[in-house]
Amino acid sequence: MITLGIEGTAHTIGIGIINEGEILTDVKATYQPKAGIHPREAAQFLGENMRNSLDLALEEAGLGFKDIDLISFSQGPGLGPCLRTVATGARALSLHHKIPIIGVNHCVAHIEIGRFLCGFKDPLTLYVSGGNTQILKLKDNRYRIFGETLDIGIGNMLDKFGRETGLKHPAGPKIEDLAKKGKDFVELPYVVKGTDLSFSGILTNATEKFRTGKNSLEDLCFSLQETSFSMLTEVTERALAHLKMKEVLLTGGVANNKRLQEMMGLMAEEHGAKFGVPLGYCGDNGVMIALLGQLMHKAGIRQSLDDTAVNPRFRTDEVEVRW
Ligand code: AMP
Ligand code: MG
Repeated sequence: MITLGIEGTAHTIGIGIINEGEILTDVKATYQPKAGIHPREAAQFLGENMRNSLDLALEEAGLGFKDIDLISFSQGPGLGPCLRTVATGARALSLHHKIPIIGVNHCVAHIEIGRFLCGFKDPLTLYVSGGNTQILKLKDNRYRIFGETLDIGIGNMLDKFGRETGLKHPAGPKIEDLAKKGKDFVELPYVVKGTDLSFSGILTNATEKFRTGKNSLEDLCFSLQETSFSMLTEVTERALAHLKMKEVLLTGGVANNKRLQEMMGLMAEEHGAKFGVPLGYCGDNGVMIALLGQLMHKAGIRQSLDDTAVNPRFRTDEVEVRW
């Protein structure tokens, strides 16, 4: 079975094609905002880049639409205009080429690509991206949210700090580089509430400290990472100790960060748990959408066109995991 997955929840249009467990292609085009992500501009970017990304993906895989058995797309959560643009494109392709269509939850896709690439059965997952920060565990056929951010996602916090300090979007990788040159730790608000987290106070405080000019940007990036990643690791550790799980998965765009990988890896090791990151597929991509579409289809899930309406607030625990 060959599945074509289309990702388009925010900044990236991604086309992935898989044949069962084999990844045939992974094409991406990413919108570069001048300031923060502007939903309408992002949607326009996705629309303008969908056709060429599709052509490139099919060419790389050496396939035509006649070879595609299933089209899956990101149904939510995400920015409304982006979701609608991509869903409209996916429906048009499905109708025109008479290929079944399935809308999938973007967050569940981040987990499933991690499970697949790390060979995990039942991991405790820390999912860290621009808009989302969640600690999840599968229970009674749903990925239950054990803890999450009470305000902004960790990636959003890093990107906003970057915007205030003149770093280009996305700031996460630039903050990681600058942090390596930091020497002095600057105290910043550390906000953990049980298994939930909050990142807005640390953002305001670090930005204010930058404006006073007393601390170098390198020191602030270093301290921002150390503080916020310690919060993430603490909350995941609390869940791990409580649930006594044997696998820890780190996924989502912020999972690219080597320092976060190191902290989470050490913590998992201390608890005798395996640790994994879906390297190369942490950030938004079409392959994870194809993979989840394939899992759902094989589990017997079918959708009519009416079922493919987008849902900007689609929660991870709304999805019944039947695979
Ligand atoms: P996603 O929406 O899953 O593609 O994740 C995007 C987010 O990941 C953005 O907020 C980026 O700043 C962040 N990100 C990407 N690479 C890194 C990195 N190396 N360190 C920290 N954050 C990163
Ligand atoms: Mg994402």
